[in-house]
Amino acid sequence: MAKITLDNLAHSYLPKPESEDDFALKELNHDWQDGEAYALLGSSGCGKSTLLNIISGLLRPSHGRVLFDGQDVTDAPTAERNIAQVFQFPVVYDTMTVRANLAFPLKNRGMPADEIARRVQKVGAMIGMEAELDRKARGLTADAKQKISLGRGMVREDVNALLFDEPLTVIDPHMKWELRTQLKKLHHDFGHTMIYVTHDQTEALTFADKVVVMYDGRVVQIGTPQELFERPAHTFVGYFIGSPGMNVFDADIEGNAARINNVRVPLPAVYPFGSGHMQIGVRPEFVRLAEGGEGVPARVLRIEDVGRHKIVRLDAAGQEVNATLPEGAPVPAGADRIVFDPAGINVYENAWRIAPEGRREAA
Ligand code: ADP
Ligand code: MG
Repeated sequence: MAKITLDNLAHSYLPKPESEDDFALKELNHDWQDGEAYALLGSSGCGKSTLLNIISGLLRPSHGRVLFDGQDVTDAPTAERNIAQVFQFPVVYDTMTVRANLAFPLKNRGMPADEIARRVQKVGAMIGMEAELDRKARGLTADAKQKISLGRGMVREDVNALLFDEPLTVIDPHMKWELRTQLKKLHHDFGHTMIYVTHDQTEALTFADKVVVMYDGRVVQIGTPQELFERPAHTFVGYFIGSPGMNVFDADIEGNAARINNVRVPLPAVYPFGSGHMQIGVRPEFVRLAEGGEGVPARVLRIEDVGRHKIVRLDAAGQEVNATLPEGAPVPAGADRIVFDPAGINVYENAWRIAPEGRREAA
C-alpha cells in the first residue's frame, strides 16, 4: 500500500497546449492517503479516466510528477507500480475458465498453488461466481465477464492501490449494490488505498470516506459526503450532489445580507465585499414556503411526493427553485414566498465559495 502524491500534475493530449482549455486535466496537487477509500466523481468527459490512467501508468502526464510513498514513479511502467486496475468494460481471457482468469494475476507472480486456490475460492464467492469457476469465460454474459474483471482486480492482497474506473456500468442494477458492498468489505479487511471512479453520486457517497469531485478537468472539492452537502466549495458541487441539487441565485452581498430579486435575505454571518459575480446557494432542504410577509416572491408550479419527503417546484422571477418538505408537512395553500434558513446558505463569488469574515451577524 502506498500514499500517492500528485505534484503539479497536469495533462494535455495536444502536443503543444496553448491555453488552459487545451488541458484535459488542469494543474493538480494532491496526496491520496495510504489506506483511504476515495471516490472520484464527475460527469462524463471531466477527466476522471485521464487522472486514473496517469496514476496507474497507462498514460504519462505531460506536466508534473506522480510519487508513491515519496518515490518518483512518473516514468515507471504500470507493471512496476504494483497496481490493480479494473475498467468499465470486461477484460477477460475467453479461452480460460473463470478460475484460471481469477488465478492469472497470482500465477504471474509465482504464488504457491494452494495459496492461489484459497484466494480464488474466496474471490469467486465475493463476486457470486463460485458455482461457475470451472466454466470457460467464452459464452458468459457481459455482466458475468465484468464480475470476473472485478475479481481479478480484487484477488491480490499486496497491491499499492486498487483503481476502479466505473466498474459497475454493465452490471445488473441489483447486483451493483452487492458488489459495492464486497468492495467496501475488501477495503475494510485489507486497507488498500482505493480510488473508485463514478459519475453516480449515490455510488460515490455510499462507497467512499472521501469524495473527490471533478468538473471540467479540475478537482473542485475533496471532502466527506457531509462536507460536500453542507459546504459545497463550488456551485457545481452544490447542484451535482443532492437531489434535487442546490438552488443558486444571483445576488448582491451587503455584509450580513444578500439581495435577491430586490428582496433582502439575511445571511448567517458577515461576508467580505466581493467584486465578482456573486451568488448564494441554498439546498432545497433549507427552503421554506411562506404566505405573504418576508421572503422572495415565488409561485408553486407542482408538488412531487417522493416517499420520504415532498419536492416542491417553484418559479421565482423565471428561475426554477426546489424546496423539500419533510413527510407530513403541509404545503401552505396560499404559498407565495420562499424563505431561507440562514444556516443553510453559502455565498459564492464567480462560482467558488467564499468564507464569511469571521464576525457573526449581530442579533
Ligand atoms: P471521463 O473519464 O471523466 O469521462 P476522460 O478522462 O476520458 O473523462 O476525458 C477527459 C477529456 O479528455 C475529454 O474531453 C476527452 O474527450 C479527452 N480525451 C480523453 N482521452 C483522449 C485521447 N486519448 N486523446 C485525446 N483526447 C482525449
Ligand atoms: Mg472515463
